[in-house]
Amino acid sequence: MHKDTVELVCNVGELVTLFESKAGIEGFLQKVISLVAYHMKAAVCSVFMYDEATQELVLTANQGLNPDFVGRFRIKLGEGLVGHTLKTLRPVREARAYENPQFKPVQGMGEEHYQAFLAVPIILGNRRVGVLAVQDPQPDYFDDNDVKALRAIAAQLASAIEGARLLMGIEKPGTAAPPKTNAEPEPHDKGCRRFVRGIAASEGVAMGKALDITASSRDWLNMPFTPAVALSEEDFLRAMRKTEDQLADIQRQIGERMSDVATLIFDAHVLILKDSGFSGEMLERIRKGQSPDQAVREVVTKYITLFSKSSHPAMREKITDIQDLGLRLLSNLLATPDDSVDYSGRIVVAGDMRPSDLLKLSAQKAEGLVLGGGGVTAHISVLARSLRIPLVVVNEPLVLQTAEKKEILLILDARQGSVLVDPAPDVIERYRILIENDRKTLETAIHVLPQTTTRDGERIQLLANINLLSEVSTAQRFKAEGIGLYRSEFPFIVRNYVPSEEEQYRIYSRLLDSMPDREVILRTLDLGGDKILAYYPSAGESNPFLGLRAIRFTLRNKDIFCQQLRAMLRAGANRQLNIMFPLISSLDDFRQAREVVESCELALRNEMVPHNASPRLGAMVEIPSAVELAPDIAREADFLCIGTNDLIQYTLAVDRTNQMIADYYVPHHPAVLRSIHRVAKAALTAGKPISVCGDMAGDERLVPFLVGIGIRKLSMEANRIPRIQAIIAALTQDGSRTLAEDLLKLGSVKDVEARLGMVR
Ligand code: PEP
Ligand code: MG
Repeated sequence: MHKDTVELVCNVGELVTLFESKAGIEGFLQKVISLVAYHMKAAVCSVFMYDEATQELVLTANQGLNPDFVGRFRIKLGEGLVGHTLKTLRPVREARAYENPQFKPVQGMGEEHYQAFLAVPIILGNRRVGVLAVQDPQPDYFDDNDVKALRAIAAQLASAIEGARLLMGIEKPGTAAPPKTNAEPEPHDKGCRRFVRGIAASEGVAMGKALDITASSRDWLNMPFTPAVALSEEDFLRAMRKTEDQLADIQRQIGERMSDVATLIFDAHVLILKDSGFSGEMLERIRKGQSPDQAVREVVTKYITLFSKSSHPAMREKITDIQDLGLRLLSNLLATPDDSVDYSGRIVVAGDMRPSDLLKLSAQKAEGLVLGGGGVTAHISVLARSLRIPLVVVNEPLVLQTAEKKEILLILDARQGSVLVDPAPDVIERYRILIENDRKTLETAIHVLPQTTTRDGERIQLLANINLLSEVSTAQRFKAEGIGLYRSEFPFIVRNYVPSEEEQYRIYSRLLDSMPDREVILRTLDLGGDKILAYYPSAGESNPFLGLRAIRFTLRNKDIFCQQLRAMLRAGANRQLNIMFPLISSLDDFRQAREVVESCELALRNEMVPHNASPRLGAMVEIPSAVELAPDIAREADFLCIGTNDLIQYTLAVDRTNQMIADYYVPHHPAVLRSIHRVAKAALTAGKPISVCGDMAGDERLVPFLVGIGIRKLSMEANRIPRIQAIIAALTQDGSRTLAEDLLKLGSVKDVEARLGMVR
């Protein structure tokens, strides 16, 4: 009878993500412990929850002991093996529990049959949440791996339990009714007026008043308003100076943090502000007798009307700049509180959003974001994760937009994927504590080893995906072994012009310097699809994901391509340089791209500019045609990288940004698994390095499969590394190979789910 700890950890992860408050926390925990007991082949499994008020642990869910004790049995912190586990915050493992002097037998509970004992603390940040324990009649039954697995589960349970408690407003663990069965009341009605379920696209928790950005700017400008005292030209000039100072301040703050993308975000505002057609005209109107606030309103409205008539996208792009600026100026003029232009304390609600807007929101300190469209792998979500802005994508943004009108508080729980509208005071208090704890946890050290190996010693490299330079420090903190994907397009998307070769050179050099002696893979521009340059003429395609995207765009726009390649080759002088092309659909694409690199290299050589003369060139496999041609591409490319986000989208014909069909976007679809396997085989046969860099590389349910088909390099969002490292540490090569072989024989999604033990 072998224990299957990997599957167990994955299953619990799955349970946590599917956690619905319907069954109550006890129902949820009951499911968890049945899973743990089943996979660990343990006779007893229990969860004790800690009640801070009484400093007692309550048996909240159990399998294997006398059920009468559930919800009733309490033990003091520090008492017995369980209390000791939580007090010392260390696992306790005993071959024979009763030999430990701390062991405290309880009459009638039925523990006397069980000798082996293992308990781990459940902790969130520095807060005690409870204890997870297993017992078995066979002495010395639990080993080191069981400790690891149980700890991994406890880590996941901590946030789920916390989330459940918050959602359901449970006051005291254990004092609640015994495990609930059917006919539950709608639990979220208890804690808040409304509960909107969505998809968590960027993790985190935030709280604040709703702010519908599209509506608010317009409303504000149109709002009839009479100042208490008549405003003068001097007031207007003071407001101008204040606005300028504020913009300079924002520039400075974000410039230091995000030099690659942010330098010029607010430059547009400054330029417009100083334009004689803008502030000059306002001043003229004021001098002719118009009130300053009216002058601001009218000039701003005039420009908005003008720009909205333009057929040029870059002009239309300016509308939000003008709106933002008008709002800021008015607010300074009328001396309303600064928070009307600063988004701190606000949860921004919008139908959709461009990356540059998101960057501005981040700079202006928005707490969180609710979007009415887009999927988890859509690039706006990717950017939100890079900027660490919690984001939930919902189907009913209207509910939240109305919330704004009433100044209602929202809680954005982007771990569970929910939005709580107008929550009750105790729920607010709990979330306040949670947000504070999250902040503290961020500051504490994380446990991650510099190298990752399977249980039987096979090395697997874990690298980080990076979109912004500011993320490099996160990658270093999580001990990434390199950067497996640098999405070079972000500096392009957020500017209002194409960054020059010099600017790009500086960005790539900083990136490469941040990881000396480590592998860094620079991906060339992946524009198109949902990543449009607002300032660049676009073809107005009706199917942009099937259009002029990624390598197709750069091959058509060789000036932009060459500028980028020159910057990359120069930055890679005197070190290993890896350049990767996205969305390769044929060998011909790859060859053409390689020729452009060669021509850039030749030009640099002729100009005698220091550069890397022999970069390693890789192809991303993310289209079914490239899967088909993988052996051919592998022969010519220096390395392959599977972009699963797009591969899933194109294999299954599911728009990755369309939330309405998100249930068709199935990473574990048999067709996807077989495609990935074919690509891995092609690369291994050709003796070329292969990596996976889509979200699947950080998906704990599928990593065992990837290892099983021979993938030894995974690139993911850096904060996934500790979790994936733990999953891999519990794997064996034989075990993962068997799993992969089994999965590759299956033809239906349901069968794959059953084999993966996924909970549906
Ligand atoms: C992918 O498609 O899996 C990938 C990593 O690229 P992106 O998400 O940037 O399209
Ligand atoms: Mg892709």
